[in-house]
Formats: sequence, C-alpha cells, structure tokens
Amino acid sequence: MNGFCVECGKEIEHGVHGLCMECFLKDRQLISLPAHVDLTVCSNCGEFFTHGEWAVMRPEDAISNAVRDEVTAIKEARITGAEVTLVPLDDFNYSVTLTCQVDIDGYQTGAAATTVLRIKNGVCKRCSRKTGQYYEAILQIRGREKKLDPVLQDEVLARVENYVDGTAERDRDAFITKMELVPGGVDVYLSQISLGRALVKMLGDDYCAQTDEAAKLVGQTADGLDMYRVNYLVRLPEFHVGDVVFYQKHYYKLFRVNSAGGRLVSLKNFREMPVRRADMPELRVYAKRADLEEANVISRSPGEIQIMDPQDYSTVDLLVPPAAKPGDKVQVVRIDDVLYYVPE
Ligand SMILES: [Zn+2]
Ligand SMILES: [Zn+2]
Repeated sequence: MNGFCVECGKEIEHGVHGLCMECFLKDRQLISLPAHVDLTVCSNCGEFFTHGEWAVMRPEDAISNAVRDEVTAIKEARITGAEVTLVPLDDFNYSVTLTCQVDIDGYQTGAAATTVLRIKNGVCKRCSRKTGQYYEAILQIRGREKKLDPVLQDEVLARVENYVDGTAERDRDAFITKMELVPGGVDVYLSQISLGRALVKMLGDDYCAQTDEAAKLVGQTADGLDMYRVNYLVRLPEFHVGDVVFYQKHYYKLFRVNSAGGRLVSLKNFREMPVRRADMPELRVYAKRADLEEANVISRSPGEIQIMDPQDYSTVDLLVPPAAKPGDKVQVVRIDDVLYYVPE
C-alpha cells in the first residue's frame, strides 16, 4: 500500500496518519513530564516512597524511579528505554532529564523531557507506628516465683531482639515497640501478633517453658475487621542448660533442653538419660551453671583425674568419663562435702 506524504508529497511505504516519518516527527513532542514531580522521603529513617511502597534506596535511584513513573508518551509511541540525568538545584530540588528510546511502528527514534523533582518530607508507616508506640502483642517473659534471673533475662532478650531483627530484614513492619521491666520479669511490646506467636513458641521450646496466650478485642480496623491485641506469656523454668540438677533422688548435669524435654548426664556414672517435657518441672536446681566451682587439674589418667580442692587445697581424686579430655581447669560441684566432676 504505497502512498504519498500529505505534507511533503514524498513516496512512503508506511505512513503515520498519512505522513512520512520526518513530517510526523517534525515539531512533535513524543514524551512529556509534568512540570514538577514530588518524591517523599521519611524524615525519620530516610526511606523513599516509590512504586506505592516505602523502601531503602539510593537517592538517585529513588529520583529516577519517581520520574520514570510520571513520563507519558503519545499514543503512537512506545518507550523502549530511558536514561536519567540529574542536576541538583539545591538540597531538595533536582532538574531531571529523561532521555528515552522510542519506537513508532517499528521506527526507532529518541526523545527527551525535563522536570523539576521536589523532595518532600514525610513519615513512613513504620516510623509513624514506632513513634506512636503502636503494638499488637505483648510478650510477657517471667521467671519462677516472681523473679527472673538477670543473666537469663539478658540471654532471652538478646534472642528476642535477634529474632525480630532477622524478621525485620524481610518485613519492615516488624519491630519492638518497647521493653518494660515489670515485677517478676519483662514485657516486650511487639508490632505484630505474628512476632509474639513465633517468639512464644521459640522460647517455650528452647527452654521447656510454660506458655499461655490471651487475646483481647480492642476495636475494628478501617475495613471493619475485628482488631485484637494478644498477650503471650512465657514462664521460664528455674533450670537452664549447664545447671546441676536434682531429679528422682540423683544429681545430674542438665545437658540439653528442647521442645521434647531434656537430657541429663549423671554425675556419678556419666550416663545420659532423657526426661520428657511433662516431667521437666520435677527438676530441682542444685547449683546454677554460674555458681559451679573451678578446680586446677594436677594429673590425669583414663577415667580419673587429680585436682586441687579450690577450698582447702587438698588433693582429690575425681572420676571422669572414660573419653573425657579434661584441660588444666575443670568444673566441679560439691554435694554433701564431696566434690564431683561436671562434664563439659
Ligand atoms: Zn513528509
Ligand atoms: Zn521511616
């Protein structure tokens, strides 16, 4: 279907609206940008809002995204590539030029448009929730008999923080709102119910702890769903891995604790034995791992070592497991005035 350009009369194979390509492109603006493009930055954490969400990005990338989102082309043209050039005007304004490759019915050409990008301060959802003390769950960490051992408390809080940090890498709405010391333990306020649910399961399993939960209806969301706040309780047992415990009339080192229960090592014959989770509350702590005594080793032979009693400096023979390789110092515990080796 050969024809002639209605403007210049040149013979053409494919015209655009009856025009040859040169006549069509002449004085025609193929792409355009609004006079201003606004880009919001969180004044608290520095994240940018582009493509409908908040994200950590380099300012150049955020500016480039914001401008690309606003470009429009005439209906005959398709943008096939774009490059962005920035010229800062001041701290908050940039002159941004977008240079595009454009395809018109198989014909390749270029086009450019310029706008002023303005950076506006805002607050992202997470920061507004954080500063607004938003929370959906409280993890109540408690010890036995209304007290929580400070060393255990630090250990548990470190695990909680570690877990929330790990989750926050994938989900930016996950955070700890605050931690509050309360009689008998500590309350950790969490931004998401799912954090509380995961943490109470994790701590319950890892420490063989009792757990409980209670939900309270606190209102409705904007779209009419019931909104709950959930209290997750974890009551940590007195025992901890490494402690010397008393169980069914014998003394053991508590060797391992997990969701299934515990594993004990006898201080008498070093045999291992499992304890079911349901029986774990029967363990009585005889000596906390931090309170075990340390003794210098004087000599070693298979199955036995000689140590110096740390209290009266006398020499004492101790049984050790046949495969043990004790170093220069070992942990011991005194039960009824007799010292026992505590396996590592
Ligand atoms: Zn023409
Ligand atoms: Zn923010």
